[in-house]
Amino acid sequence: MNPPFRKIIHIDMDAFYASVEQHDHPELRGKPLAVGGSQRRGVVAAASYEARNYGVRSAMPGARAAEKCPHLIFVKPRFDRYKEISNQIRQIFYDYTDLVEPLSLDEAFLDVTENKKGLPSATLIAEEIRRRIHQETGLTASAGISINKFLAKVASDINKPNGQKLIAPDEVILFLEELKIEKFFGVGAVTARKMKSLGIFNGRDLKEKDLLFLTRNFGKSGLHYHRIVRGEQNSPVRPNRVRKSIGAERTFSESVFGRDIDGELNRIFEIWVNRIAQNSARGKTVTLKYRYDDFETHTRSSTAPNYISTREELGEQVDQILESTAIERPVRLLGLTLSQLEPKASGREGTQLTLEF
Ligand SMILES: [Mg+2]
Repeated sequence: MNPPFRKIIHIDMDAFYASVEQHDHPELRGKPLAVGGSQRRGVVAAASYEARNYGVRSAMPGARAAEKCPHLIFVKPRFDRYKEISNQIRQIFYDYTDLVEPLSLDEAFLDVTENKKGLPSATLIAEEIRRRIHQETGLTASAGISINKFLAKVASDINKPNGQKLIAPDEVILFLEELKIEKFFGVGAVTARKMKSLGIFNGRDLKEKDLLFLTRNFGKSGLHYHRIVRGEQNSPVRPNRVRKSIGAERTFSESVFGRDIDGELNRIFEIWVNRIAQNSARGKTVTLKYRYDDFETHTRSSTAPNYISTREELGEQVDQILESTAIERPVRLLGLTLSQLEPKASGREGTQLTLEF
């Protein structure tokens, strides 16, 4: 039986690239910072909140940004690091649902109507996910919760940064009526200007226009606008990638060494084993990742002859790796991953796989 409403969460990391840089380089914290853009023709890929206070925005030419904020610090992007964290947060999402649709490295939709934890409240799930993202990566995220992707996406912006917003089913209609036209997801600056020239300033104005009027003025998008303003956007959350590994890793705000490494590794192991069990996954290759203070990163792998999944089998592989690995200095990141996963024969993932190939 389908419940009357879907429960959709949109998670969005706060000033993602800039926050990663400030997290990894404590000397940059509290300072106006732009990732990218230092080249003559470069543009800002992301700005820290301190830089935004000066009017620096992403997609702004670096020269313009430097004008607005003369002491702006430009940092080169490190996409490998952003991808790593992106993967880390996705592993958290998968603890709740397989219906995860990433929009970019730092944003995703989750359909938690039926979730793996059997939790009835999407609000609590969003809180839990944000708390865990912070624990495991040291970064903050914002969330929007509502009945469809459009509303969840709009909502996640409202209490940003480090906040969340629910638009409950009975609030949807009023919320949409009062929403400024430029806040509608999919309405860019040009469309917003056109809408205003037609007397459409908010959802209420938009709703008063009939479908014919909207399609005449906006083509195919007219139907989209006609629907979203009535809360009728119901495109499903599409898990658009096949999962290749199941991992658990943790970035520490203060590096750990010696016995503390064993303790942290045990905790990560527990989370990891549970994840693998919860997903009924089996795989062959176990990888330990550790990163020293100076970002030097090592991975050590061990591959089993057959698919493995139990705590004992996984533990055995980890022990084997540890026996031949010397972690010599304090580390700031530890992680365990199971890859070379057994292809799933049935279920949603399997269906997707058949369609894609
Ligand atoms: Mg973001």
